[in-house]
Amino acid sequence: MSRMQTYKHWRLETGVDEILWIYFDKKDSKVNTMDREVMEELSSIIDLLSEDKDHKGVIIASAKKTGFIAGADISQFNQFKDIDEAVSLLQRGQAIYSRIEALKIPVVAMIDGFCVGGGLELALACHYRVAEDGPKTRLGLPEVKLGIHPGWGGTVRLPRLIGAPQAMNLILSGGTVTGKVAAKIGFVDAAVPKRHLVTAAKYYATQKPKRHQATFIQNLTNSTVMRRILMQFMRKQLRAKANPEHYPAPYHVLDNWERFGVKGAEPFAREARDCGKLFFSETSQNLVRVFYLQERLKGLGNDTRFAPQHVHVIGAGTMGGDIAAWCAFQGMTVTLQDREPKFIAPAIKRAFALCKAKLKEPYLIQRVMDRLIPDVEGYGIPKADVIIEAIYEDLTAKQETFKKVERLAKPTAILATNTSSIPLDDINTVLQTPERLVGIHFFNPVSKMLLVEVVKGNRTDPLIVDKAISFVRSLDRLPLPVKSSPGFLVNRILMPYLLEAVDMLDEGVPAPVIDKAMTDFGMPMGPIALGDAVGLDICLSVAKHLNQYFPNMTIPPRLVSLVEKGKLGRKTGSGFYQYKNGKMVKPAMPTYSKPLKEISDRLILCMLNEAFACLSEGVVADSDLLDAGMIFGTGFAPFRGGPIHYAKSQGIHELYEQFVKQTQARGGKAQSLKEWDTTTEA
Ligand code: NAD
Repeated sequence: MSRMQTYKHWRLETGVDEILWIYFDKKDSKVNTMDREVMEELSSIIDLLSEDKDHKGVIIASAKKTGFIAGADISQFNQFKDIDEAVSLLQRGQAIYSRIEALKIPVVAMIDGFCVGGGLELALACHYRVAEDGPKTRLGLPEVKLGIHPGWGGTVRLPRLIGAPQAMNLILSGGTVTGKVAAKIGFVDAAVPKRHLVTAAKYYATQKPKRHQATFIQNLTNSTVMRRILMQFMRKQLRAKANPEHYPAPYHVLDNWERFGVKGAEPFAREARDCGKLFFSETSQNLVRVFYLQERLKGLGNDTRFAPQHVHVIGAGTMGGDIAAWCAFQGMTVTLQDREPKFIAPAIKRAFALCKAKLKEPYLIQRVMDRLIPDVEGYGIPKADVIIEAIYEDLTAKQETFKKVERLAKPTAILATNTSSIPLDDINTVLQTPERLVGIHFFNPVSKMLLVEVVKGNRTDPLIVDKAISFVRSLDRLPLPVKSSPGFLVNRILMPYLLEAVDMLDEGVPAPVIDKAMTDFGMPMGPIALGDAVGLDICLSVAKHLNQYFPNMTIPPRLVSLVEKGKLGRKTGSGFYQYKNGKMVKPAMPTYSKPLKEISDRLILCMLNEAFACLSEGVVADSDLLDAGMIFGTGFAPFRGGPIHYAKSQGIHELYEQFVKQTQARGGKAQSLKEWDTTTEA
């Protein structure tokens, strides 16, 4: 190669073994993402490579510690002037990647850390791929999670390389896999420990072994006949997971593949055109919004240097046991206290099951279990950086616990309660240092629910809140700062929605109809099924608590009577529905003559009314945080962008008028429009 230019985002180095290393090091960015400028530089590097006679091979690697490539720069997504501009950027990317594929000199992608979206599409255009085999290296095409699909050749190259079933599995779900799994499936040539990664990459770059090719059967899956047959199955499977009206992108992938296969130029052209259009869909714009909401929550707590090593959890029940397991799973030393060893044993058993499901390798499971220490005496208290109380929901018991804890804890430790309803300013009255008490409110099941409310009482020191937020981030959870007020944010907004749904049951609307109306709206499950899943006793206790503060939230007699009969939902085998071995016995869908939208409108309006009340009371700082809380805390239809965003898109005034009519029809009184209207400023 005659001249080695310098680039803003790429660095070229020649090694002693005549290998050209191309390091991606995006300027002024912690992670490598692809944008127009990065692509154009890559294009000029490829110009050089096409004439290169000085090197035996090329290795593309990342110079960042954070991973290989995180995909396309998402901030570009809402900057396209029109569909044509989006399509032309996609076509340009496709052309650059195709030129890599066509190079004579062997090109290896050396993948250490995440390699997703446009990053994986780049790797797929290389001749070889080697990946690090640890848990942090993840590969996938998660575009559908942003309402689009791969647009730089991924929907064509992946099925061509490994056959349609495995490829579609990855593309349609947007999931990621480790290097090891990718090697097993066949889209990575080798997954090796970090210390061997460079050697492996050099081997492929210099020895040019035969390139990976799809097997005969895999090839067959892309043939015209098989595409038609497989399509039926895949579409059916997809339908069970995603509604095409809400999430059209994966359906487009399937349709294009069925019609145009994986050969020639047409599938690429269709991919670019289709993806370009999807950028402008409401779903994609809302999902990009959700992505940024998530980034915002992730960015909270970055400023503190609090790095807790030891967590002490008091109360090894449903919540305490699972919180302890999750902390140990995330690398912390955990001491777990309860009144007697017999109360701790089930928590240890559940922790083991969690590790087994998530880690597979026995030595990794053992490491986590070694960090989780039963501690009836509370020896861990003086050593802990964070102490979390998760005992019964009883004020005096919690106060007694904190009195003891405060005497023994390090002065720098934060004292946290997982209470779902007791005001912090009631608990902290017995403390010498009430400013140390913060709420860290996890949701059940801890290992699945991303959101954690971080609750500030009137006396809580803001620095302690910041520390709690950092702690939540170190557990790979999304912290939502909220004010200590009844039900905090999520339960407060969810409860009127659930109670209204139970009222509807009493009015004669069948449960499956109510649930279908809400899953059609986009909720992950309907409110009646949700009540059963949470436990009707828990719903009732939250409802009773909220009713003390908000008398409008009346408790339906049916809920009380089911709890009295011990029909608590899924956990007892019977609630609103019946359950067998923990699974719902699906009732037949009754005929219902009215539009389901009437049901969903009514329920959503109840939720919105409470959401606006929370905003005007300052339970959360702004409407975006509220939307984030409801999406990550309850699964509120992500493609709608959150409740407040949804209300804005529908027209707040119109919705308010609808709500007033609905409330008056039921003999109630709606709050004022002023409260609903506070969000129009945003
Ligand atoms: P639980 O009844 O399952 O567990 C409570 C545990 O605390 C029991 O094992 C009990 O033996 C132990 N305990 C009681 N007094 C103790 C003491 N003085 N010292 C040590 N251990 C003691 O309760 P849970 O459902 O895990 O709820 C715990 C807390 O979490 C409550 O404040 C609840 O409001 C809150 N919460 C519950 C949920 C949920 O879905 N269950 C969700 C969020 C928050």
